[in-house]
Amino acid sequence: MEDGDRQHVVLFPYMAQGHINPFLALAELLRRRRPTLIVTLVSTPLNIQNIKSSPCPPSLSSIRLRSVPFSPAAHGLPPEAETTAAIPFHQIVTLFHASLSLQPAFEQLIEDITQKDGRPPLCIIADYCFAWSVHVARRFGAFHSIFCTSGAYGTTVYSSLWTHLPHRKTNSDEFPLPEFPDTIIHRSQLPKHLLMADGTDPWSDFLQRQISLLSETDAVIINTVEEVEKTGLRMLRKFLPCPIWPVGPVVSSPSSAIAGNDHIMKWLDSQPPASVLYVSFGSQNTIAAPQMKELAMGLEASRTRFLWVIRPPVGFDVKGEFKPEWLPEKFEERMRDAGTGVLVHGWAPQLEILSHASTGGFLSHCGWNSVLESLSRGVPIVAWPLSGDQLYNAKMMEEELGVCVEVARGNMESSRADRVVVEKVVKEVMHGGQRGKEIRRRVEEVRGLMKEAWTEGPGSSVKGLSEFFRAAASMRGAAMKM
Ligand code: UDP
Repeated sequence: MEDGDRQHVVLFPYMAQGHINPFLALAELLRRRRPTLIVTLVSTPLNIQNIKSSPCPPSLSSIRLRSVPFSPAAHGLPPEAETTAAIPFHQIVTLFHASLSLQPAFEQLIEDITQKDGRPPLCIIADYCFAWSVHVARRFGAFHSIFCTSGAYGTTVYSSLWTHLPHRKTNSDEFPLPEFPDTIIHRSQLPKHLLMADGTDPWSDFLQRQISLLSETDAVIINTVEEVEKTGLRMLRKFLPCPIWPVGPVVSSPSSAIAGNDHIMKWLDSQPPASVLYVSFGSQNTIAAPQMKELAMGLEASRTRFLWVIRPPVGFDVKGEFKPEWLPEKFEERMRDAGTGVLVHGWAPQLEILSHASTGGFLSHCGWNSVLESLSRGVPIVAWPLSGDQLYNAKMMEEELGVCVEVARGNMESSRADRVVVEKVVKEVMHGGQRGKEIRRRVEEVRGLMKEAWTEGPGSSVKGLSEFFRAAASMRGAAMKM
């Protein structure tokens, strides 16, 4: 079959690991389910280089990777700032604004594809943070879709908060969302930059523009499951006018051979089933120094085995050397000698760890990928949300799904974390007890629903993806008739 006969799909993730990973997983899924599709994934040069050099599953080898030029220095960013993990938090908003400069190069790339294929791509599937790409799709007559890498509830609450800044219109600590009076948000559930936002700041400027562009997209596919996020999807469908198809969970396949991780997997192999609490705050976050000590003391007091991916605390170079003074005295040695706790500095093979039979819980910042990776493996969550949609993911999982318990919130110097609460919650989730048992039962139910969503025939995500392609194809058909 000639390339010209095959449909072309262009994927365009935002420059953050938590966005690139699910887009790669989506690319893998599309190639597996529709082998005749040409799938091109676009990002900046460093990100493309990193994807090429990481161990990838075979289904990804057929993905076309294309880079668009990007100069972080032109925006006052360090030269390697092509992903959020490479910069401190206060520069994240600069990266947002800098990413707008990708538009001409992205447009040129679509032009090149159109020339080569003799027609525009069937669809452009872009990130929530690249909603501006709808203008590019319109120019070429391509179907435009957002792939939402966050959950439905988290996306809706976060978008509604940025759109209306409701906390500025009340002195009360708790307030409802304007479109959703039943959804009550507490001031402590607002990240600092949202709390301070007044509508004229750079965060509001970027996010409000992208959120309003969401209403122009042709469709949203979202990394969640119809039966798991009923409330969130109802809210998102009220918030946005376009069709919304859940296609989750879209999670990468574990890449078994990552050099340098043997010791982690060997240690897990030697632990009893479901006994280890995996602790991680995602690809780019860390907690404050006083919180780190409270967490360490709480873990030690809980007498729970743990595997903690640790980085220098807030205010220090997260990629820099880790200093023992950030932890209780001789903590790492004590845990190592007892064989009950392992600290992994920097990065760990999360999916492999969550898939391991010895892992029985996940103390997580509740980034949506972490949530899906954990629940689809049947691992209950101890929530410590830090920022963005994480705060609403934790709220929804505790209040609606019953699959987690929140242990602390935020990572500012002023955000409290209490060793006694850490000890209590970790024991509750890891060592049975009535609540722990109920959480495990609910997690099993959610795992089952996630599995069913991808069952051939009746699965809701199978149907969601088919309907999405039907809509894209019918727009192509309509354009060809004109
Ligand atoms: N991740 C990993 N190892 C780490 C930290 C993170 O493999 O040490 C992966 C994790 O499996 C997930 C992604 O990075 O796929 C993090 O995405 P998430 O949405 O959970 O959080 P974010 O990093 O975007 O805040």
